[in-house]
Amino acid sequence: MKIAKFGGSSLADATHIRKVCDIVLSDSCRRVVVVSAPGKGENDPYKVTDMLIETASVALASGVKDARACMDTIVARFEGIARDLGVPEAGEGIKADLYALLNPNVIERRDFVDTMKAAGEDNCAKLVAAYILSLGCKAVYANPGEFGMLLSDEFGNATVLEKSFGLLKEKLASVDGIVIFPGFFGWTEAGEIATFPRGGSDTTGAILAAAVDADVYENFTDVDYVYSVDPKLVNNPEPIQIVTYREMRELSYAGFQVYQEEALLPVYKAGIPVNIRSVNNPGCPGTRIVARREERSGRATIAGIASDSGFTSIYVTKYLMNREIGFGRRLLTIIEDEGVSYEHTPTGIDDVTVILRDSSLTHGRLDRIVGRIKTELLPDEIDIVRDLSLIVVVGEGMKHGIGIAAAATAALSNAGVNISMISQGSSEVSMIFAVESDQVHAGVRALYEVFFG
Ligand code: ASP
Repeated sequence: MKIAKFGGSSLADATHIRKVCDIVLSDSCRRVVVVSAPGKGENDPYKVTDMLIETASVALASGVKDARACMDTIVARFEGIARDLGVPEAGEGIKADLYALLNPNVIERRDFVDTMKAAGEDNCAKLVAAYILSLGCKAVYANPGEFGMLLSDEFGNATVLEKSFGLLKEKLASVDGIVIFPGFFGWTEAGEIATFPRGGSDTTGAILAAAVDADVYENFTDVDYVYSVDPKLVNNPEPIQIVTYREMRELSYAGFQVYQEEALLPVYKAGIPVNIRSVNNPGCPGTRIVARREERSGRATIAGIASDSGFTSIYVTKYLMNREIGFGRRLLTIIEDEGVSYEHTPTGIDDVTVILRDSSLTHGRLDRIVGRIKTELLPDEIDIVRDLSLIVVVGEGMKHGIGIAAAATAALSNAGVNISMISQGSSEVSMIFAVESDQVHAGVRALYEVFFG
């Protein structure tokens, strides 16, 4: 049994939806299909979800009448796709469904915005099911609430309730035909509509895969593979055939944005492999994300190199810091008190560096943190470096590989890249280098050359 999830760009128009359905129908193991809302396409500059959010905010700010013009555009988009697919009657149903949302009674509900957001996925699923039926194949649109996708009532940021897994399993087993399941939302126990954070169709797919204990969770996008380095920095980089969840997590942390990271938690916990594949090249096997892969030796152990910018480091040093009980806790408490989450804390005997994301240091937070460290911890020295970038070299088992760190630091030094911080200590999967932002691309290229060149 495979769960196949298709992203918005794969469902942007009738041509893409036909491709998606060919893929679905070409393998009888693809029993459950999760769809996003139509995204940006060649002739469509807007994602349907963005337009629905815009419509909801106009409706809330100036009433349903003013929101009508926004909704007309969304309706026209769905009607056009339905017509091009040869199922105009499905377009009529969607039109009625969408205009029914612009009703003063609906606007008053506390799940109004989520109901609007969910309408993109919901109607896309109805459309895909209608098209597959028109081809003479069995397909069933799944209403997430009726199928047991029960979520917390944190609107826009919902999480799945544990009982959903059993309910979904039972319901999905009872369906005869291909199930077309809208991503991104479910019902609360009170029957309201709640959405996951943006990009949440990945989450729906992962939950369904875990519920039915799928053999694989196929996540179709518009790239053939996840690549070992950003293709914008290196021409024709090596594709990643197989990677572990832990490796993928490290790569995503530093800029690889293939799917929503939190989304994979249910399949990660259940040990279900994920296969990232392309709708435009279905013959390509894509990248498999698995719990364990065969360890490779030497430099081949490296799975990929990622980088991300926008970090600040706070370096604190104090003579005999290692004997001062509670120093680290008090330092981190100061950061916690500002509601800031720290990224890394490499330490020495008498010094510690805390690395934070610039984006979390708005509204004078950095000044307050530094001020409190000075007055409460009385350090000998405190040094702030802004505009740092991190380069992350990722590979399962690298801690045991001899010469990996030497090769990496030599590559950076030969490229004239100054390393402000190295962190490998506790991770078996990655080695992190902090460098100045204007040197990060040179650093990534040098490391790629040495490990993959
Ligand atoms: N359509 C939603 C979004 O744009 C969910 C998704 O595509 O995964 O965020």
